[in-house]
Amino acid sequence: MKHVFGPVLSRQLGNILKVDPVPYKACNWDCVYCQLGATRVLVDEPREYSPARDIVGELEFALAHLGLEKLDHIVLEGSGETLLYADTGELIQKIKLLTDVPLAVVTNGSLLIRDEVRRPILDADIILPSFDAAHTELFERINRPHFSCSYNKQLEGLCLLREEYGGKLWVEVMLIRGVNDTEEALKDLEAIFEMIEPDEIHLKLPHRPVSEAWVRPPTEEGIMRAVSILGHASKVIHPTEGEKLCSSFESVDRGILKAVRRHPMTHVELDRTLTRWAPGTVGTALYDLEKRGELKEIERYGTTFWCDANSGFAEKRAHGDLVGVL
Ligand code: SF4
Repeated sequence: MKHVFGPVLSRQLGNILKVDPVPYKACNWDCVYCQLGATRVLVDEPREYSPARDIVGELEFALAHLGLEKLDHIVLEGSGETLLYADTGELIQKIKLLTDVPLAVVTNGSLLIRDEVRRPILDADIILPSFDAAHTELFERINRPHFSCSYNKQLEGLCLLREEYGGKLWVEVMLIRGVNDTEEALKDLEAIFEMIEPDEIHLKLPHRPVSEAWVRPPTEEGIMRAVSILGHASKVIHPTEGEKLCSSFESVDRGILKAVRRHPMTHVELDRTLTRWAPGTVGTALYDLEKRGELKEIERYGTTFWCDANSGFAEKRAHGDLVGVL
């Protein structure tokens, strides 16, 4: 399956199936905290990357065959920017016809200012837009957007969504130590959220290898400062301990590639995730995939992670140094 992934245990949404309508790293931002590595080419015009009927066909198959005991949400989340998929409205309508499982949409929020992008997603049960900074300088420093995006458009898009949307609005803030976890940055965000009144504010922490090696999660003090300034609607989303994926891939190679295209993973995590194959099989496959040039190793926080060879992460040299972003 190309577009459907899971089930995955999510701290925000419970037991979920992810539906990904865009190609790997099709995005109009190049966030310093991106778990997919650097964005090589920023794209800003939505496209019909795959027919909605094909994506829904995969979802139908997954719902029928994965033996899911309990599914809390279906999550429309691209391995890039979700709303760069031009037929999101049709996709949502088809998913709603297929199942009663609540549908969540994760987006960086950059295109919400466009009526033709925002209106088709109003039927979703939950929308989770990003909002990491409350002024232009910090927005550009953290999210490094396509030139057609701006902080003012980001804010206006979120305001329009709030006015028109009757579902749950959960805004996501990725906290970065020394960048947007300062008192000043958080008070600026507080002023915006007082105006928007999201139902929840989810404070996320970079915990895996991200695009820029200097990015660090806030200290405990920084997290407490954020919760105290952003108030009762805010909650800290701690990383989930290991994903529980259904090992329904045709081969161990495809399983590994699909898993690391979500975010870099350690060998141990991959072993824990791909439980269908005998012990040792994942290790052999990792070696083969690296030899064929499909995977590479990166090192962060003293730990070795595997990622897609084409991802924009700095590679690991034999002695462990980083060699620059591709
Ligand atoms: S974190 Fe999301 S919005 Fe930012 S660059 Fe990565 S895919 Fe794009």
